[in-house]
Amino acid sequence: MHDVIIIGAGPAGLSAAFWCDELGLDTLVLEQADAIGGQLHRVYNPINNYLGLKTRNGRELLEYFSADVDDAGFDLWTGAEIESIDLRAKRVSLRSGERLQAIAIVIATGVRQRTLDIPGEREFAGRGMIESATRDKDLFAGQDVCVVGGGDAAVENALLLAEVCPTVTVVHRGKKLRARREFVERLQPNHAVTVFTESVLTRIIGDDRVEAVEILRKDGLKPFQLAVRGVLIRIGVEPNTGLFREQLEVDQQGYVTVSSEQETSVAMVFACGDVSNPRAPTISGATGAGATAAKVIGQRLNAQRSNG
Ligand code: NDP
Repeated sequence: MHDVIIIGAGPAGLSAAFWCDELGLDTLVLEQADAIGGQLHRVYNPINNYLGLKTRNGRELLEYFSADVDDAGFDLWTGAEIESIDLRAKRVSLRSGERLQAIAIVIATGVRQRTLDIPGEREFAGRGMIESATRDKDLFAGQDVCVVGGGDAAVENALLLAEVCPTVTVVHRGKKLRARREFVERLQPNHAVTVFTESVLTRIIGDDRVEAVEILRKDGLKPFQLAVRGVLIRIGVEPNTGLFREQLEVDQQGYVTVSSEQETSVAMVFACGDVSNPRAPTISGATGAGATAAKVIGQRLNAQRSNG
């Protein structure tokens, strides 16, 4: 029996664990990936807005987090795949066979990039699929590329690629780009960029690597092909709640609903970080929410123990 089981070792989960440890709680962190850090592994831009630290990218910030994690006393299991979880009973079963129990659970499972689920998307991973313009733009310099999406992430990546690519075709399903005005204003005079609105990507085509995409325009009768060597998809994110979504309250998009104490609709089950923060996901917000969850758990357990 643990005091707290924390699911997810991104900034929110690590911060919750760090604080639980500070408060003397018996804490176990379960991370399904082989390494801690969550989305920090995919932040390729400099981080300039985390108070007190400026880092070149997410991995560098993770190095600072890891130093504190190494010094802390909580248990951390990576590669821990959860088979099932009973939030009310606070029981967790792992695929490896372990059965775990806690007094409180903290959900810090984060979000994942949405995918189009079209032919070619998975098959060409590492062979023409662009993960990040910041990271990959030199690899695609001089080549024609396509970006899917209409939000800040798609337009920011398109602008970066347009610095080195002769043509960047943005394919967006909506009537208007949703990205913020400053980004869209920089896009309009850029001769390298063409925007297809009310259009969807239906297929990514190639032999060994990406050679073309198939685009269907709303006013078109059939899809047409466009020769490109790279495709970047940025169509937003979705919360990782598949394991427990039916057991607690979530909003329309599937984000976990929490109180100001980070508690979910199930008593002594807390959520923090992006999985419960659709409006303003930030690293600072995630670490703050993790600390709040830990402090509330500490106060509740202290009260229970001094009463019992
Ligand atoms: P957003 O949710 O803002 O935008 C997602 C876009 O993808 C929308 O235009 C949406 O279309 C489209 N989309 C969604 N699902 C599909 C689908 N199945 N097929 C085709 N298109 C689809 O996500 P972003 O990833 O752009 O940004 C995430 C967050 O990160 C935002 O809060 C953003 O502001 C922030 N961000 C900030 C940056 C910065 O400040 N420098 C840079 C990058 C991101 P539709 O409009 O029709 O719904």
